[in-house]
Amino acid sequence: MRYSTFIALAMAMAGLSAAIPVDPITEPAPPTEQDEDYWKQFLLPEAEATPILNETHVTKRFFNLPKTCKTMPGDLFWPGTLGWKVLDLAVGGRLIKPKPAGRVCHNSFYGESTYNAAACGQMQGNWYDPDWHFTDPIEPIWPAWANFSCSPLDSRENPCTYGKYSRYVVDAKSVSDVQKAVNWARNLNIRLVVRNTGHDFMGKSMGAGSLGLWTHNFKDLVFYDKWTGPGGYNGQAMKVGAGWQTADLYRTLKAKGKVFVGGECAGVGFSGGYIQGGGHGPLSPLFGMATDQVLEFELVKADGTFVKANANVNKDLFWALRGGGAATWGVVTSVTVKTFNDMTTSANVVIFDTTQNEDTIWKGIEIFHAETYKLADEHKFYIYYELGFAGPNSFRVKPILAPGKTAAQVDALLQPLFTKLNAIGLVYTQQTYTYTNFYDCYIDLFEGEGSGVTMYTSARLFKFEHVYQNNTEIIQQFRNAYNQGHIFVGHILAPGHAPGGVGADTSVNPIFRDMAMLPLFNMLLPDNAGDAEWAAAIEHTLNDIDAPFQALSPGAGTYLNEMNIFDPDWQQNVYGVNWNRLAAIKEQVDPRGVFYAETAVGSQNWKKVAGDRLCPV
Ligand SMILES: Cc1cc2nc3c(=O)[nH]c(=O)nc-3n(C[C@H](O)[C@H](O)[C@H](O)COP(=O)(O)OP(=O)(O)OC[C@H]3O[C@@H](n4cnc5c(N)ncnc54)[C@H](O)[C@@H]3O)c2cc1C
Repeated sequence: MRYSTFIALAMAMAGLSAAIPVDPITEPAPPTEQDEDYWKQFLLPEAEATPILNETHVTKRFFNLPKTCKTMPGDLFWPGTLGWKVLDLAVGGRLIKPKPAGRVCHNSFYGESTYNAAACGQMQGNWYDPDWHFTDPIEPIWPAWANFSCSPLDSRENPCTYGKYSRYVVDAKSVSDVQKAVNWARNLNIRLVVRNTGHDFMGKSMGAGSLGLWTHNFKDLVFYDKWTGPGGYNGQAMKVGAGWQTADLYRTLKAKGKVFVGGECAGVGFSGGYIQGGGHGPLSPLFGMATDQVLEFELVKADGTFVKANANVNKDLFWALRGGGAATWGVVTSVTVKTFNDMTTSANVVIFDTTQNEDTIWKGIEIFHAETYKLADEHKFYIYYELGFAGPNSFRVKPILAPGKTAAQVDALLQPLFTKLNAIGLVYTQQTYTYTNFYDCYIDLFEGEGSGVTMYTSARLFKFEHVYQNNTEIIQQFRNAYNQGHIFVGHILAPGHAPGGVGADTSVNPIFRDMAMLPLFNMLLPDNAGDAEWAAAIEHTLNDIDAPFQALSPGAGTYLNEMNIFDPDWQQNVYGVNWNRLAAIKEQVDPRGVFYAETAVGSQNWKKVAGDRLCPV
């Protein structure tokens, strides 16, 4: 029976008369799931797709509802082979059907025999190489967030499964690819996961049963000697494609005698989670947060349209994108930011001797903090350190960075610190280095990044008022946490003291305006930690680590990109006074919840049910 005949018959049976006469002979049959045309409907932007899909009986059941649970593999509405083939053709053959790389260390992957001793050995080596992860479309650098569904370190007897890995990934190379993927996910109600590097501390670029959208290959880069676009700024700038990573960008700009505000870690993507979450970095003391530098975003919105957001158009979006978090407002395909002239960069490296008396080490750590807060506050220093990473009682400060300063200036400014450390008899090494440009200093002195370990991170952002008043107590709490197995990464800097730093026209939490220190408290767990061990770690971190730090920093908060993902007060702690406005904008630009990430604005409307399926709250 033809579809139109069926409708007419059904209406007649229901006692209704059709408003529009139906010609059962001439009206073409609507496409079915066996037709490519059927699947092409799902590639349309929202404005075109909605009227059609509202009439498509197969999709009607979910499409008319404002929000329903996301469709997962195995569901009636999950596309079959033909459907995915249509998407593949639409994105120029760049649809990947990925398989977790660790499957070669497991006997089976959904019935396929996968174990291969040689490949497994190689894979286990790759696991600790972050660069390997960046070039893979689904593997996160912190594997805990893949839920060990296919870890190469796991027993080969346990079958490899998809778990939180995306089922399909569009390796996007054009705006059109991004639009097709967004439309497909929205129209079919499939969870969409945007992935740039997989660098996120909390594995936010993963999602069970999702379609992945990989931006890694957006490598456009355009320089402007003079920006003439919106925003009232007419200095130098660059437009950065969504796939650029920090160190590559620093190196490329060195060749042009320029710098920009980027992250401390080489592999962090520039235009994704980093800049949309705010973005602090070594040059923040001079220029502010990364997001303070933004002149324009280009993005694909949830409805599939490609737009610019800047000081003149889509102003709400422009505000929200500058600090309100990624995976929330759209898929950013490029960001245009201010650049600056390169500069002499000097830095000092301090390493405490680990064999001396523990009390002396901790007294030294307390003095170190008290002195370097002042350097950040008054002299635009950036301090990065690691505590406990290089073995018991290790405290390595690599580096104390002073962009724009000479070695002599750095030595003079650090002298009070060393005098005080010497006075307590601390054993340590220190050396000052100087470079003609920022990049050489960066590449020489900053610690490398890791991957592959099971690390659970939490963090607290302290304001100057807190560190000046409570330094002794804060360091005592560091010691308590350290004694309970936590190791630290510390950032001491004042992005809010830079001219225009943490601007009022961005959605960065205003607590950053008084930021003095952002320590990250990291807990290493065994790779095979089970649910009970994780539950205990979470409870312990919330109660014994986070709570005392919060008590020492009333009115402060944390940083979206480096937070405890299990923080029950995340809305307040991360977004602070900006929450209501951000939540209202989210409702406006993405009412169906196409974009989702844990602790992102809008995620409060979703819960995870069996199999990590997202369902409306
Ligand atoms: C070792 C390490 C060092 C770090 N150092 C710093 C630092 O110095 N300063 C700092 O501020 N932060 C730092 N971070 C935190 C960093 O900002 C976050 O991890 C950030 O989320 C990484 O972004 P990404 O796009 O590279 O990662 P991904 O894991 O690929 O993505 C992170 C989130 O952004 C979303 N996303 C990615 N691309 C896009 C896009 N184009 N459009 C929309 N959404 C997108 C993803 O869906 C996901 O939700 C560090 C993290 C680590 C692990």
